[in-house]
Amino acid sequence: MAQQWKCTACGKKFGIGEWKCADEISNHVVEEKTYRSADAPSDPGHPANGGMDSRRDGQTVVCNIPPARKMGEGADVRWVGEGSVTFIRGRFATSDPEQQYWLDKKPGYNVTEEQWAAAWLSDGQKLEMEKMQLKAERQRLENDRNELLAQTKQKVGAAA
Ligand SMILES: [Zn+2]
Repeated sequence: MAQQWKCTACGKKFGIGEWKCADEISNHVVEEKTYRSADAPSDPGHPANGGMDSRRDGQTVVCNIPPARKMGEGADVRWVGEGSVTFIRGRFATSDPEQQYWLDKKPGYNVTEEQWAAAWLSDGQKLEMEKMQLKAERQRLENDRNELLAQTKQKVGAAA
């Protein structure tokens, strides 16, 4: 059976190629889907400030989403309408069914969150995250201590 979607904007059911919504300009809208690529840069090359991490923060343009369509005949043939989407840090979310349809067909852009994290988070970033957790924990202890101190002062004040 051919693939079908239901538009959350106009409520219409539609199939492959019937992307246009009621206004005939914008595409139908479906549930947002996040695409992940595990293809992270692993060669430091000539790292900018921040080394590998700054390269990983970069953007990747994926072409042919959607691919160009053939228009005209013979010498008049033109290819129009090719689109592209931009992955940031190997992630891209879209609720456009046409983009989803073509991304679903492309291998390598639908890896799991775990595969994504393994490919994209550097050792430095994993350490950084642990450091931030430790810092938050220390701050929490400090707050507790200050609160206790304030309570003790209040008691002392009340007794005097
Ligand atoms: Zn629609």
